[in-house]
Amino acid sequence: MRLHNRVALITGAANGIGKESSILFAKEGARVVVTDIDETAGVKVVNEITSCGGEAIFCHSDVSSANDCKQMIQTCEDHFGRLDVLFNNAGILFGDDGDAESTDEEIWDQTMDVNLKGVFFGCKYGIPAMRRAGGGSIINTASFVAVLGSATPQLAYTASKGGVLALTRELSVLHAREGIRVNALCPGPLKTKMLMSFLDTDQKRQRRLVHIPMGRFGEAHEMAKAALYLASDESSYMTGSTFLVDGGITSAYVTSE
Ligand code: NAD
Repeated sequence: MRLHNRVALITGAANGIGKESSILFAKEGARVVVTDIDETAGVKVVNEITSCGGEAIFCHSDVSSANDCKQMIQTCEDHFGRLDVLFNNAGILFGDDGDAESTDEEIWDQTMDVNLKGVFFGCKYGIPAMRRAGGGSIINTASFVAVLGSATPQLAYTASKGGVLALTRELSVLHAREGIRVNALCPGPLKTKMLMSFLDTDQKRQRRLVHIPMGRFGEAHEMAKAALYLASDESSYMTGSTFLVDGGITSAYVTSE
């Protein structure tokens, strides 16, 4: 088992990538703190893990709140005694996130609060806990849009993910010699609730699909496998990376039929 004896905390773990990662990490031996603002779905994830013999607890935490993030790390150490893997995964994308002219300040601020400040808070309180554990792995979910511009505008989201990438690189340099690895997982377009409600018509989905060499949206469980690699010792010489798992979208200039 690749995460035997490890303790992992995952934000935005009630749905999508976070849910699949919680279940996979637990199957690989981790004790998991499932955190989210969606308590009902989060508790279901915990029940799914425990019914299969795994160990997990739910902790309600809004990543845009410093106090909630402090508390979730505290809960993790109180309950499981340590923190080895921190997966800062929670993120939001508003339907009315547009271009510079159309995006409201409120949309910009809320997006930054969750997607970027949330990752900062996770690291702010998670790094001391990881140091106490003697090292560990931090995975921050960015996106392929951190490295590519999109013609379907989502400016606040894109800027927030660019920030996650830059923050990840700097933290990786700062903490490498403490045995704390920090990597950014950059998913391509996925068939999760987030993107499917943003691309809410067939036409919008087709417009995105033509850019993906594999010709399909990715699945949350495919991201969970990538996150498992970053969480485990299999990636022991990897830090500060932009880990693109994107169906080839960032390699494509023109896709073939
Ligand atoms: P999802 O909507 O299925 O899940 C996101 C989870 O985050 C939900 O459970 C939600 O309740 C939770 N959440 C929202 N706001 C929160 C907050 N303030 N505090 C704590 N939890 C909160 O989305 P997903 O596709 O699984 O996305 C996971 C991550 O992957 C996000 O950071 C997203 O930006 C990123 N991502 C997604 C795609 C995609 O195509 N879906 C592509 C690239 C990157």
